[in-house]
Amino acid sequence: MAHKEHPAIGIDLGTTYSCVGVWQHGRVEIIANDQGNRTTPSCVAFTDTERHVGDAAKNQIDMNPTNTVFTVKRLIGRRFSDPSVQSDIKLWPFAVVKGPADKPQIVVKHKGEEKKFYPEEISSMILSKMKEIAEAYLACPVKKAVVTVPAYFNDAQRRATKDAGLIAGLNVMRIMDEPTAAAVAYGFDKISSNSAEKKVFIFDLGGGTFDVSLLAVMNGVFEVKATAGDTHLGGEDFDDRLVNHFIDEFKRKYKKDITTNPRALRRLRSACERAKRNLSFLTQTVVEVDSLYEGIDFCSRISQARFEELNMDLFTKCMELVEKCLKDASTDKASVDVVVLVGGSTRIPKVQQLLNNYFGGKQLSKGINPDEAVAYGATVQAAKLTGQGSREVQDLVLLDVTPLSLGIHITGGVMSVVVPRNTTIPTKQETVFTTQYDNQTNVRFAVFEGERAQTKDNYLLGEFTLSGIAPAPRCVPKFDVCFDIDANGILKVSAQDRTSGLKNQITVTNEEARLSNEVIEKIIRDAESYRVQDEECRRNYEAKNSLERYAYRMRNALREKNITSILPFVTKMTIEDAVQETLIWVEDNQFPDVSESELRLEDLKRICSPIDRV
Ligand code: AMP
Repeated sequence: MAHKEHPAIGIDLGTTYSCVGVWQHGRVEIIANDQGNRTTPSCVAFTDTERHVGDAAKNQIDMNPTNTVFTVKRLIGRRFSDPSVQSDIKLWPFAVVKGPADKPQIVVKHKGEEKKFYPEEISSMILSKMKEIAEAYLACPVKKAVVTVPAYFNDAQRRATKDAGLIAGLNVMRIMDEPTAAAVAYGFDKISSNSAEKKVFIFDLGGGTFDVSLLAVMNGVFEVKATAGDTHLGGEDFDDRLVNHFIDEFKRKYKKDITTNPRALRRLRSACERAKRNLSFLTQTVVEVDSLYEGIDFCSRISQARFEELNMDLFTKCMELVEKCLKDASTDKASVDVVVLVGGSTRIPKVQQLLNNYFGGKQLSKGINPDEAVAYGATVQAAKLTGQGSREVQDLVLLDVTPLSLGIHITGGVMSVVVPRNTTIPTKQETVFTTQYDNQTNVRFAVFEGERAQTKDNYLLGEFTLSGIAPAPRCVPKFDVCFDIDANGILKVSAQDRTSGLKNQITVTNEEARLSNEVIEKIIRDAESYRVQDEECRRNYEAKNSLERYAYRMRNALREKNITSILPFVTKMTIEDAVQETLIWVEDNQFPDVSESELRLEDLKRICSPIDRV
């Protein structure tokens, strides 16, 4: 079957964790990684010898904090000078510097050398990992994917995510909003095709982002009515509160400030995240870190009630954003039919309780694992786009919305909105503009994205000029301006002079914010060389492992009395020496070349043949 040869996957590229699914046997399969986990940390680590992605990267973070990159989703598509980038940098143990054209670059030490990576490159490494997880499961190459992004992502962030896919060797067929994906996951299962319109509220509280959306669902058609959220609110903030709580406690108890030691901070953070997860099921838990700081073993308790108190303002903020979303959609909370929980942090009982109270005791939908719902929906969408799946999947129609308003800069620096926020896409909106001065022959059209009244407070997407307009008094010339957004959210803006027919247009590509094609091509080549290096490391490691396993097997064999009794003493000594020498060599050579290990294994096998045969 065609789709077997060309499977398309759904990827939830999360801030803290990522998840991948594939359509198989008529349903969505969420794929476990090589560690058996169904979500993979969005984490990449660089060491003196290797590169790790996912669990392997997260597991070594305490030992290598400055070269372990996480939450890179907060950087993607942003400028270095962006205030949110500046404030994030202060919290990260890894360094971020200003690269060409104000793009941020992450600086790490890899194989003894300083290396700089664009956020797209790091994200591509995570996407490659998710692609590999799927390929290992399907036992065939995967080239196509649907990738999800938070509803708040602007054009530059969406495009940068697409570029990351390109670098990972994936054709990103569709960038999909995370709440929409979650709605698809639930809608497909729960909403019958002939029911009346249902209002579904998606509450997505993950590790780093918070999104709420109100969707109208009817006859398999999803329409996003409104979205709200905060790109900087999630599980990590709750971890931060716990970390600060214990930093203070440590200060009180030992008169020492652990904030000067990044490694101690990371270890405390890992312990706090574990404690937080426990507190979703237990009323109190222990936080224990051996030799946390200057040899002091730290051990303390925290109750669920204290955890809730430490985070109450953040939980309240979530509820305020729920209210804002409903207000934007002019919808009364009583008319919401279903409330869906998405994201690992929705397991927190207090969050569920607040939400349940707010919606007047309404049952919360948590049937699909909250960490997997987004990838689930993305997989359904991938199946639809590649012509797989059942009739129900094929009939599913998705309407996304513009996450921010789009408009043109007019007199006085005012943002004249052409496409309001939350407009369903694809969309085509036309409006008429005119000149500002008498005898104006050139008109500049500057396209902005954002919710502020003044364009200086919004985000410039691009601009173009119509030249050669016949001189006329101000406000006489008329220009038809058209904003055309396709299903992928790609915006084309055109303007045409009614008198002369002169026309100009732009496709908003955010070239300035984007990496150039040359840079992307170079990164793709680099990514390939990383893949080759990773593969080489894996082969080196496997060869060394085989040698070590063989040496131990022989040592155990030697220790068996019945074998040594039938061996001449000299042979036994020779074998013993060779085994011992091999084990010392294995210990001394952390990363030997595959050929060296194989040669040694051959030699050792020859020497050990008298007992190997027994
Ligand atoms: P996501 O991005 O949806 O995978 O969510 C990841 C976030 O969920 C992380 O901050 C986790 O610490 C958090 N999380 C996962 N399980 C739990 C739990 N049982 N209780 C509280 N938070 C959790």
